[in-house]
Amino acid sequence: MLEKLRTGIRDVPDFPKKGIVFKDITPLLGDRALFRASIDLFLERCRGKAIDKIVGIDARGFLFGSAVAYELGVGFVPIRKRGKLPYKAEIAKYSLEYGEAEMEMHIDAMVAGERVVLVDDLLATGGTSAAAAALIRKVGGQLLEAQFLIELEFLNGRKQLEPTPVISFLKY
Ligand code: AMP
Repeated sequence: MLEKLRTGIRDVPDFPKKGIVFKDITPLLGDRALFRASIDLFLERCRGKAIDKIVGIDARGFLFGSAVAYELGVGFVPIRKRGKLPYKAEIAKYSLEYGEAEMEMHIDAMVAGERVVLVDDLLATGGTSAAAAALIRKVGGQLLEAQFLIELEFLNGRKQLEPTPVISFLKY
């Protein structure tokens, strides 16, 4: 099935800027068997763990994370790009290729000690998910694991998440 899933991921060269090969997951999302199979990978990894909440990263982390939370019967927490959340939020800065960006999470999104799993579509340099991990720590959440459908291994993003365990299903 993992090899089948790869057929749902399209390489788009030079998007969003020159030199980046963008992994487009919309073919996978639009295929009922592939979408279900991708959610099942996250679910299998989560089963047997005591999880209070799934945390998804803006925006494609929401697509996978919310389906996983629904099926596990746990809550879902969105981490968003700065300026999108309406209530009081914690903020974490992270570096992009050029300059910096910020992510935020509502201060009451979880209570201290809650056990959470972080979900996103893709791990590249790890800056985004490291910022998400910092937000979870700020409010006292316990990050059990970070899970990604795709990992661009050559960027070594998992190093940024240490010591959090990192799982990815499709490695490039
Ligand atoms: P990073 O902070 O470098 O790990 O980037 C991760 C975030 O950017 C994820 O939310 C991805 O959705 C997105 N991203 C980064 N690089 C790519 C890529 N080559 N293809 C698709 N999405 C990407």
